[in-house]
Amino acid sequence: MSKKIVVLGAGTAGTIVSNNLRRHLPADWEITVIDRDDNHVYQPGLLFVPFGIQKSSTLTKSRKKYITAGINFVIDEITHIDPDKKQVKTRNHQFDYDFLVISTGCRINPEENDGMMDAWGKNVFTFYYLEMADMLRQKLNEFQGGKIVMNIAEMPIKCPVAPIEFVFLADWYTKSKGIRNKTEIELVTPLPGAFTKPKATAVFTEAAKQKNIKITPGFELNRVDGKEKFIESVQGDKVNYDLLVTVPTTSGDPVITNSKMDDGLGFVPTHHNTLKALKHDGVYVIGDATNVPTSKAGSVAHYEADVVVFNIMAEIYGAKPEEIFDGHSTCFIVYSKGSSSLIDFNYKIEPLPGKFPMPKLGPFTLLKETKMNWYGKLGFEALYWNVLLAGKHLGAPPTLVMAGKEVG
Ligand SMILES: Cc1cc2nc3c(=O)[nH]c(=O)nc-3n(C[C@H](O)[C@H](O)[C@H](O)COP(=O)(O)OP(=O)(O)OC[C@H]3O[C@@H](n4cnc5c(N)ncnc54)[C@H](O)[C@@H]3O)c2cc1C
Repeated sequence: MSKKIVVLGAGTAGTIVSNNLRRHLPADWEITVIDRDDNHVYQPGLLFVPFGIQKSSTLTKSRKKYITAGINFVIDEITHIDPDKKQVKTRNHQFDYDFLVISTGCRINPEENDGMMDAWGKNVFTFYYLEMADMLRQKLNEFQGGKIVMNIAEMPIKCPVAPIEFVFLADWYTKSKGIRNKTEIELVTPLPGAFTKPKATAVFTEAAKQKNIKITPGFELNRVDGKEKFIESVQGDKVNYDLLVTVPTTSGDPVITNSKMDDGLGFVPTHHNTLKALKHDGVYVIGDATNVPTSKAGSVAHYEADVVVFNIMAEIYGAKPEEIFDGHSTCFIVYSKGSSSLIDFNYKIEPLPGKFPMPKLGPFTLLKETKMNWYGKLGFEALYWNVLLAGKHLGAPPTLVMAGKEVG
């Protein structure tokens, strides 16, 4: 065996898994991680940029700085994957592998939503990438009242709680500017409610009601009319807006589709529990690039990395990959500047009330807004750069822990 591992993408998942692999594998295993640029963006911070809580200039750091010594970091565009020949092509190179880890994430495609690009940056904005989050900050700064509509074009999206957090923060922001009484806020979503899980949806719906935020569920976006300022659903329902904030149609990276490894939406069909690609030997998938039915979130990527590393090592030593991953996801949900909730769930267990991570002690409280959760959300950034990206475990298993959760 040539002993080569290639990791595609050095975002959250690719960086964590590469560093974790380097720590566990003997030095004669060569690890190469490839990304198109050297700019690692702390994406959870994008939520705060439109509201002036965080400056966009603080969110980007060099990827190199977070990739451990002993890993080859290549800056290049990945152009093709050949899982039969076990080869990856980039614009300038070709790489052979024994194991491949796909961590190419996902991307928004506003050009796929009818009419959206006509009003892009005029009355339609997103906060899902840096430049646009900054433009939205300027737009909100000038905003003197009217109707703000937050729309999810279709599922799946990255970080499914971010749109709820956006409307909650819009409520806080317009209140603090003294224009809440002149502002309507509406969340328009294709989901049956505010979130993917019914119990958490009930809690978020109540919070939205308290904040006088309207939720319109079951809305499948057909087109945006930026001139007349409305969105129209496939069923012909219309919602007017003055400012549209969107999460456009999301897909995996085109290299997945171009390599014919996708599920029709650009994601790689992945075993839900081993995280091995369903159709290709020697290939694991991690982070937003998978099609596993849990949130596309950095916390998920962190939990998945332990499983991918374990299973690659199992295969190296001649064992079968284990069905370990349970869809575990942990997300803060910001309610306003200074207050946040927290959810912890997996494929089967819905978000439950209780304490996290330590039973009884917390310090964080599940499914409830607290100031301590807000400090957790703020503190998460330092944890991300200094601990999580290094692929460290925090002493917890990658799967959901029931201790501390209130059942029934
Ligand atoms: C507004 C917002 C708020 C969020 N909040 C949270 C939160 O509070 N908590 C949380 O856990 N998660 C949050 N997330 C989600 C989290 O950031 C992502 O789920 C996580 O970054 C996924 O990691 P990834 O490695 O799969 O993808 P990414 O981190 O996006 O990395 C993918 C990498 O692949 C590279 N790549 C792709 N294709 C190619 C190619 N063809 N050639 C070369 N390079 C390529 C890209 O350049 C990129 O660096 C948030 C996301 C957003 C947008």
